[in-house]
Amino acid sequence: MINEYYPRVTVNLQKLRHNIDEIKRRCDEQGVNLVGVIKGCTGIPQCTKVFEQAGCQYIASSRLEQIRDAIDYGVKGPFMLIRIPMLCEVDEAVRLTEISLNSEVEGLRALNQAAKRQGKIHKVILMIDLGDLREGFWDRDELLEAALMTEKDMDNLYLAGIGTNLGCYGSIVPTVEKLDELVDCAEMIEAKIGRSLDIISGGASTSMPRIFDRNMPERINQLRIGEAIVNAKDSRDLFGYDMSFMYQDAFVLKAMVIEVKDKPSHPVGEIGYDAFGMKQEYTDRGIRRRALLALGKVDYAFHDMIYPIEKGVEVLGASSDHTIVDIEDATKKIKVGDIMEFTLCYATIVYATNSPNVKIVFE
Ligand SMILES: *Cc1c(COP(=O)(O)O)cnc(C)c1O
Repeated sequence: MINEYYPRVTVNLQKLRHNIDEIKRRCDEQGVNLVGVIKGCTGIPQCTKVFEQAGCQYIASSRLEQIRDAIDYGVKGPFMLIRIPMLCEVDEAVRLTEISLNSEVEGLRALNQAAKRQGKIHKVILMIDLGDLREGFWDRDELLEAALMTEKDMDNLYLAGIGTNLGCYGSIVPTVEKLDELVDCAEMIEAKIGRSLDIISGGASTSMPRIFDRNMPERINQLRIGEAIVNAKDSRDLFGYDMSFMYQDAFVLKAMVIEVKDKPSHPVGEIGYDAFGMKQEYTDRGIRRRALLALGKVDYAFHDMIYPIEKGVEVLGASSDHTIVDIEDATKKIKVGDIMEFTLCYATIVYATNSPNVKIVFE
């Protein structure tokens, strides 16, 4: 063990598959297609492959790099680009993906041109902002005009449907009323273009409560899910659902102990700022046994969002490359060279899988 590389994230692909299957079955039952979003685990190709094997309608990412990695690894897709394409990536977007989310006429024009150059028909979903204030058309007339233009004037685009995103920036809850509003928009467009839309895409993991509560508006037929699959913690911790049928530990962070000593719990000397220029509060609990780990904020960003699996261990703080944990009350004796394990949340999975210092290991 001493010669193995740490820190690492171990990915249990069976647990990931189980989580996809559980979410997919619940969506299927209610006529909702599952788009598997891979950006939550940085599009690790082995994970993307599992999304494909589970039979997702589309494999989606906000980053074309992750889709390119998936293709290089042998994943067939089909792929969806879920961030509004940059004008500089429309050619690549058309080449690598079958469908993309859009909210700008300029972007649609550029995509249409790129598709024409490649002799392809690229599908688009027009995004509508229902109040979360990230991406999407705000003005309904502008939306209608863009829809009509896509339908009539853009020969190499196919208007597949509309979608929305909630609970990302503005923390807006995807209530039945909000999603009904989305269906209303779809029907407004359908009346204008004289045909029905294939896709009404009702959001991300924050929309899962509508599936769990079985009150998803009838016409919503797609969700784009990442967090609820890779982590499955938000549904439990933020929305209060029983998620015991899902694994919350498909991704586990492991780091090596490099120092174990008894030290004061309160810093000794004049208190200034920490490594990141922040004022910190320290509680004096006397002399305590603590361990120093060889990983830090560079690897996971938030030390209060990594959760020790070992009982009685508490994360005290961290700098770029070090993490300090209190082990005074640990049930197991911890020594230099030991490996300490942590479960993660969505944010820390994203950071840890993105860190070039962290090795990804499969089990
Ligand atoms: C990230 C993203 C998703 C998936 O979000 P999760 O919270 O991981 O389910 C869906 N749609 C869009 C547009 C996104 O950017």
